[in-house]
Amino acid sequence: MTPPRIYKNYIDGEWVESASGQAFENVNPAHRGELLGLFQKSDSRDVENAVAAAKQAYPSWRLMPAPKRGEILYRAARLLLERKETFAEQMTREMGKILDETRGDVQEAIDMTFYMAGEGRRQFGQTTPSELQSKFCLTVRSPIGICGLITPWNFPMAIPSWKIMPALICGNTVVIKPATDTPLSAYNLVEVLEEAGIPRGVVNYVAGSGGSVGTPLMNHRDVRVVSFTGSTAVGREVSQSVVASFKHVCLEMGGKNVMIVMDDANLDLAVDGALWGSFGTTGQRCTATSRIVVHKKVYHDFIGKFVDRARALRVGDGLDPSVQMGPLINEGQLRTVEEYVVIGKQEAAHLLSGGGRLTGGAYDEGFFYAPTIFGDCAPTMRIVQEEIFGPVVAVIPADSLDQAIEIGNSVVYGLSSSIYTRNVNHAFRAMRDMETGIVYVNAPTIGAETHLPFGGTKQTGNGHREASTAALDFYSEWKSIYVDFSDKLQRAQID
Ligand code: NAD
Repeated sequence: MTPPRIYKNYIDGEWVESASGQAFENVNPAHRGELLGLFQKSDSRDVENAVAAAKQAYPSWRLMPAPKRGEILYRAARLLLERKETFAEQMTREMGKILDETRGDVQEAIDMTFYMAGEGRRQFGQTTPSELQSKFCLTVRSPIGICGLITPWNFPMAIPSWKIMPALICGNTVVIKPATDTPLSAYNLVEVLEEAGIPRGVVNYVAGSGGSVGTPLMNHRDVRVVSFTGSTAVGREVSQSVVASFKHVCLEMGGKNVMIVMDDANLDLAVDGALWGSFGTTGQRCTATSRIVVHKKVYHDFIGKFVDRARALRVGDGLDPSVQMGPLINEGQLRTVEEYVVIGKQEAAHLLSGGGRLTGGAYDEGFFYAPTIFGDCAPTMRIVQEEIFGPVVAVIPADSLDQAIEIGNSVVYGLSSSIYTRNVNHAFRAMRDMETGIVYVNAPTIGAETHLPFGGTKQTGNGHREASTAALDFYSEWKSIYVDFSDKLQRAQID
């Protein structure tokens, strides 16, 4: 047997071992016996080195013209494109989602990298008249400094790219800590940036746990920006620990996304959307469709079609092209799903399909769970209110659009929502009244594109947005500049 590959940290332009000299395993959730490699078990000493490197690199990176920074990003995007298939296959092995979806994840990183490369030539400010004569006013974007980036496992290349690329194009330097379940995809992204010519110290990669790497990174005195994507519980901790230091903090957290199906909807289209929204990425998307509110007039028709289709889904190893849904990420997530299914039964929701771990044969090698639908759910049930992050969806009957919107908004999260209707009035009311950062019409709750703002309201986010030019607002600060060419003292608001 060949020994597993050892992947190192990337600090100050070098691939280095962690200070502890220890490593952790990255395993395939579809075949627990398959080891993808060993990654560095880092701690605060490695964070210290990475932040020091980012600090040293910052002054010259800040001064490199943004279009030149963009050229490096263009090269990186082209390399990602060349390696898309390899990276997608490695990602399926690393976290389980099917190949079509991991190709989409890598494509999102490609799109984001090209998009932000282009922003190198578009960091437009404003020019505006002054209230005084012979005085000129303008605004420019300024970089902020060192960014600490902490990412989850469900979009293991896309989410790191959402943070790294806008941070870099604005002139910041970064330290990224990927999720422990998916260090390889972020590693691949960083390796591509190195090959594309990123100067040493500008991008640093430190693998390890949330407690031993994430915490010292976000609390480091020299880190000015913290961008976190993950659960609301950890996001709250991040928020509380950085508040006293006034760091800039972007939090992208949990979701409990709703799809509304009206009585005038194209029902087959709604079922297609429900299936993709609920069971894509095995329900482990922040934007997953986890609640479906269906008008009572079409409730039984919808349920009949949806349950039939869910039962027919092929679950297995995501590398098999005939498979439609892969495994859960790990044993812990599988247990969480099992616990919520017990809760759903106790709450007297009707279990309509699934509801159990898949066992026997190849299923015993991984963390497989059947696509699960609960029907006749009440809006207050825990399975309707709390994020499960697995292939479990709650269907809730409603009498009217008003009631459907009220149910849709009755959770603490506010990431994504959708409505299926052929009535333009219904569509526009949902667009206006859903309290979510993203609204889809006649499409499921998933499918964000990189040139639109991404993020949520309420306990999903803290008011910032990722992707699009909105990301530039987070990774830069506005500087207002006044140039007086009158050759005399002029006093604003006084003269
Ligand atoms: P998580 O909160 O457990 O972990 C996220 C990251 O934070 C990981 O890198 C983890 O190691 C790190 N971390 C954990 N504890 C930490 C601590 N005390 N200090 C600093 N860092 C710490 O989330 P997860 O299980 O990796 O991902 C699933 C969650 O992410 C779900 O709630 C999902 O909705 C959310 N998510 C949100 C979005 C979004 O854009 N809103 C996108 C994807 C996932």
